[in-house]
Amino acid sequence: TDALDPHIKGEALRRQRLFGAASVLFYREPLEIARGEGCWLMDVRGERYLDCYNNVPSVGHGHPRVAEAVYQQLKRVNTHTRYLHSLVNDYAERLLATFPASLSNITFTCTGSESNDLALRQAFSFTGRRGVIVTEGAYHGNSDLVTAVSPSSFRRGQPPRWVKTIPAPDPLHVPATQQAEVFDSAVAAAIQALEQEGFGVAALLFDSIFSSDGVYADPAGFIAPAVERVRRHGGLFICDEVQPGFGRTGRMWGFERHGVIPDLVTLGKPMGNGFPLAGVVTRPAILERFCQEVGYFNTFGGSPAAAAAGMAVLDALEQEQLIQRAQQSGDYLRVAITRLQASHGGIGAVRGVGLFTGVELLDEAGQPDESLATAVINGLRDEKVLIGAAGPHANVLKVRPPLCFGTVEADFFVQALAKSLQRLGR
Ligand code: PMP
Repeated sequence: TDALDPHIKGEALRRQRLFGAASVLFYREPLEIARGEGCWLMDVRGERYLDCYNNVPSVGHGHPRVAEAVYQQLKRVNTHTRYLHSLVNDYAERLLATFPASLSNITFTCTGSESNDLALRQAFSFTGRRGVIVTEGAYHGNSDLVTAVSPSSFRRGQPPRWVKTIPAPDPLHVPATQQAEVFDSAVAAAIQALEQEGFGVAALLFDSIFSSDGVYADPAGFIAPAVERVRRHGGLFICDEVQPGFGRTGRMWGFERHGVIPDLVTLGKPMGNGFPLAGVVTRPAILERFCQEVGYFNTFGGSPAAAAAGMAVLDALEQEQLIQRAQQSGDYLRVAITRLQASHGGIGAVRGVGLFTGVELLDEAGQPDESLATAVINGLRDEKVLIGAAGPHANVLKVRPPLCFGTVEADFFVQALAKSLQRLGR
């Protein structure tokens, strides 16, 4: 208990005692949320906050359709996944129909980490190689294997030698017309290093919106030459759709905008709107090779209750037209934030697609300003808006609300941002 922070009290103190060094919370005075509805969260004191951050409850907090579907299934039965259940097959069929035809098998898991772990292992067995290429600021999950390919997780040391990093896209210094070429040549250098060191390239793995690198969506198609290059060298492209997937980019899948078909796609976060449901979509030949080598069983992954949640999410996306909404609200939001640049200092690039927007915060010299971002995040909390930051300098506001976010919410956010910049003298 020596390490206990004297400022921490109440539930936060209890939490720190119980969870120790791994007890990381948002904000100096952490929030205690009691309930949620759509894009709004209510704390135990009855304060209402606009949630601009959570992409898990993607069809909205406390979505009645998802809650009801899970409840009904849990009441009936929830077995593990070695029994037949038509709902699980129905869900898999409906989900796979949203992918290109070659990606026709799915394995259900419970987390994005498990999905990336399994996808990497499939790539290793299929290619017979070990090398993996990821971006410098990548986060792909928390298992031992997946931490190795998550440079952003390292507080000390570096990823192992079989992992080579490439810079994320850099629109500040690289014109859009050269983005594809620059990305491709970084991948070429990484492949060369992996081959020289005897690892070869098993996979190029990245998040198709580069969220933890700082949110990079453009130009559409810029990843294609690098993906082709990896394939020419015998490697696979694993597309991590844990963040952009399920409609956030204004299309079902982030990779669609880039005109490429991945070899493996990993899914998670929004898939069950908070019910643990994740998965790996792949070509049958890749999965077959893996299954010849080792067995794979996931007790909870793709249970009937999980499938019920997943099915309800697909229903909500369709019936509430949330994918179109993500596109429209996202465009509206970026225009409104860009307009603030005329009246307020501190805002650099405003980028993204659909309801995934990055707002670069800069100091007076035009350099990334982490302390401004921290001050704005706290100022926004005072204005009842919850948001986080990304990027290597933690200076990119990550606006990533539930997909039911509309123009009312966008206006609320932009006014709050204007106020907090003004209070900071920007
Ligand atoms: N991939 C990406 C791109 C992620 O952002 C995350 C979670 N932040 C993961 C994988 C891991 O997912 P999970 O926390 O469900 O294991």
